[in-house]
Amino acid sequence: MGCIDLGFRFDNSFAREMSWAYDACLGDLAPAPKLIKLNSELAASLALGNRDSEQLARVLSGGEAPVGAEPLAQVYAGHQFGGFSPRLGDGRALLLGEVLDGSENRWDIQLKGSGPTCFSRGGDGKAVIGAALREYILCEAMHALDIPTTRALAVVTTGEEIFRDRLLPGAVFTRVASSHLRVGTFQYFAARGEMDRVKQLADHSIARHYPQLQQSKQPYLDFICAVRDRQAKLVAKWLLVGFVHGVMNTDNMTISGETIDYGPCAFIDHYDADAVFSSIDREGRYRYSAQPAIAQWNLARFAETLLPLLNDDEQQAIDLATEAIKGFWPVFNQHWLSGACAKLGLSEPQEQDGELCEQLLELMADDGVDFTQLFRQLAQDIETADNQAQQLFAKAEAFNAWRERWLARLSSDPHSKAQQVGLMNRVNPVYIARNHLVEAAIAAAEQGDYQPFERLTELLQDPFQVREGFEEYAKAAPASFGPFVSYCGT
Ligand code: AMP
Ligand code: MG
Repeated sequence: MGCIDLGFRFDNSFAREMSWAYDACLGDLAPAPKLIKLNSELAASLALGNRDSEQLARVLSGGEAPVGAEPLAQVYAGHQFGGFSPRLGDGRALLLGEVLDGSENRWDIQLKGSGPTCFSRGGDGKAVIGAALREYILCEAMHALDIPTTRALAVVTTGEEIFRDRLLPGAVFTRVASSHLRVGTFQYFAARGEMDRVKQLADHSIARHYPQLQQSKQPYLDFICAVRDRQAKLVAKWLLVGFVHGVMNTDNMTISGETIDYGPCAFIDHYDADAVFSSIDREGRYRYSAQPAIAQWNLARFAETLLPLLNDDEQQAIDLATEAIKGFWPVFNQHWLSGACAKLGLSEPQEQDGELCEQLLELMADDGVDFTQLFRQLAQDIETADNQAQQLFAKAEAFNAWRERWLARLSSDPHSKAQQVGLMNRVNPVYIARNHLVEAAIAAAEQGDYQPFERLTELLQDPFQVREGFEEYAKAAPASFGPFVSYCGT
């Protein structure tokens, strides 16, 4: 163990209880580690006592374990684009351990890009500055949008040059998560027929994320339902802000219900149900509108790993799991509908509101309307008794006909106009992590200028508040930016 004390209160339950699910290892010693970003607010909530940037850089680049850490790489499997890989694992990540915050909540501290592990499968185990900053910007933006997600604690540059399509500065990203237990973690042991270990994993996961189920008569079935419900809610929230994860492989789906592994993900600008940004997703498997169905498919793979724990009779176990997974849609639909209604100022969703929401999306798709701008404009128009929103549509007539129906529906809502506007402005962001802004921040950072990154992350911490001087940040990309394609891994 190293001698740098971060002041963290480590309590490494995964290392202690799951000795067969990881490989203990260390990262590479970085030649010239430099802390370029620390999330002070998150650091404070985790009671990170040591703020010495030189010591933080040494520890958060992975080569030196801090006092109390037990660094390890976790094993997992996963369905990648539908095909099963029986052994993936942390090929470029290192779990330092779990820290307890002031409220006794448990948080994984994980480094991404700290060097190869026994799971690297020929990869270099490294990360470049662009991927690290991208994950930082995106996950903190999602957090500010009230979407469950892993968090960003820090970025360190290593002083190394890493070869991707060209030489780029190496970096290590520090991620904080309520755990890194994934659907793929269960798949790894289930595929090997190690059901005693699947059971231990399930018990560990229940204790950690769903402790209320420990008293249940059917804890494993309830566990499936609880993970299902969190994922259904999560994916509904993604859709409501126009987020495309991009690589919803089962190893990138958490048991906790947090968004994880920000790589080829992106926010849509103009509404497009078929939006895909990842260069490797040629068939659009993970396109915007496919995300709920993919989440359900992943949950079915999760349920399969637990079948022997559901019932001794295989058919009965399958029937129970099937019913549980079918339950995804009603939960998803309920979250989506109430979220979509809130975006339109409707506080009490009714079933027929679904159609009203869908009709608007169709009009937006037809005219390529900016997803984020429109909802703020609708709210502003109520406030000012105006209809500026029609200018966003090429076919204003169709929009205006829809608008009449919406206004009629709003007048039957029990809330006042001011409350409706308030509701809309609380759920519809002004600023999202637009692709051209993220790319510009990364390009500057690659040249050593972190100002655009700082400005963007700061702005996105409060995405619902209009800020003077930031008008350009609320606009869609200029035409010269072209269609966005993401090449980075997760
Ligand atoms: P991801 O795309 O992050 O979900 O990663 C899928 C798998 O590939 C995981 O097992 C990663 O650890 C591994 N992987 C991705 N990039 C690298 C890399 N540069 N070096 C080693 N392993 C990697
Ligand atoms: Mg991954």
